[in-house]
Amino acid sequence: MNSFTLTQATAVDEAVRDKASHDGSAYLGGGTNLIDLMKENVSRPTHLTSLHKLPLGQIENTADGGLRLGALATNAETAWHPEVEARYPLLSQTILAGATPQLRNMATNGGNLLQRTRCYYFYDLATPCNKREPGTGCSAVGGYNRILGILGTSESCIATHPSDMCVALAALEAVVRVQGPDGERTIKFEDFHRLPGDTPELDNNLKPGELIVGLDLPKKGFEKHYTYLKLRDRTSYAFALVSVAAALELDGNTITDARLALGGVAHKPWRDKEAEEMLKGQPATADTFRKVAAKVVTGAKGYGSNDFKIELAKRAIVRALKQATEMDYTKDDNAFLNSNP
Ligand SMILES: Cc1cc2nc3c(=O)[nH]c(=O)nc-3n(C[C@H](O)[C@H](O)[C@H](O)COP(=O)(O)OP(=O)(O)OC[C@H]3O[C@@H](n4cnc5c(N)ncnc54)[C@H](O)[C@@H]3O)c2cc1C
Ligand code: SF4
Repeated sequence: MNSFTLTQATAVDEAVRDKASHDGSAYLGGGTNLIDLMKENVSRPTHLTSLHKLPLGQIENTADGGLRLGALATNAETAWHPEVEARYPLLSQTILAGATPQLRNMATNGGNLLQRTRCYYFYDLATPCNKREPGTGCSAVGGYNRILGILGTSESCIATHPSDMCVALAALEAVVRVQGPDGERTIKFEDFHRLPGDTPELDNNLKPGELIVGLDLPKKGFEKHYTYLKLRDRTSYAFALVSVAAALELDGNTITDARLALGGVAHKPWRDKEAEEMLKGQPATADTFRKVAAKVVTGAKGYGSNDFKIELAKRAIVRALKQATEMDYTKDDNAFLNSNP
């Protein structure tokens, strides 16, 4: 691990100034991703601006009926907060599906958004990787890509964004609040992360030096009909192969509003607004869900070892929408699919 200097900032302005005044610096949240990357020499900051002492740990109601999550609130504090559990249970469910209790006690909300991909080659300094070293090539295209992307990929990079929490934030239309050298601004969640295109080294649309200070959740939390279905190689301590956040509003059996976002399939949480529109006004049946699932994977592309994800995503969407409708995770899928047109 390379040596580095460290500042413990106590105010947001101070943190932004400190980072701007050190070339090659990085913000330090819970450190659960950044320190690993530094140990592996994937990331080599020469200075860290620690955020631990910033007053950004609150979770509080907003005047418009929403909820503001501080960037320094831990993932555990957020998932177990009474307002989040009651009003945004989809968010709690996604956070608790990720990592381990120990990691969630350290990981911060800001850091969760900015965790790097888990592509094997990104961590392997002996192999080319456009994200780690722009212009060197992508080892995953034509290589082993079981965990990598099928939607919105480019020939430069097929990495996925690994966060569970971000899949709910996409579905719930969160807004990211940031402060940087040029002042404060907000970024709609759908505009926060990027697709790889020709610049896979850029994961998001933050400007240099910008600090995430919080996340705003709108009033609507879909607390009656929601689910997060995470499919992975192990049932805990593993990243999603495919995950689905589904949230519905129902009038009887008719869908009046819908949100649908996928994780583990793209460089960013993959929200499909057209699929959501397809759901509105339709009966909540297996037939409706199958049509929507087929639409979501239109244009999906497998790269060999991850071809299976296309069918897996379709099935996961149908099951997640069914779970969100029934809010009973114990019922047999086959019974629903066979009895329900
Ligand atoms: C073994 C293991 C298993 C895991 N499993 C899962 C999983 O299943 N699902 C999942 O979603 N996640 C998983 N994670 C990832 C974990 O959720 C992230 O590491 C964590 O959320 C990152 O938060 P942090 O505060 O520790 O970030 P840090 O490691 O401190 O920082 C990450 C990045 O964000 C930047 N940063 C941090 N805070 C801010 C801020 N406020 N403003 C601007 N930049 C900032 C840092 O500079 C750095 O680039 C796992 C991690 C490990 C180690
Ligand atoms: S998929 Fe992206 S992160 Fe993985 S090797 Fe290719 S360029 Fe690197």
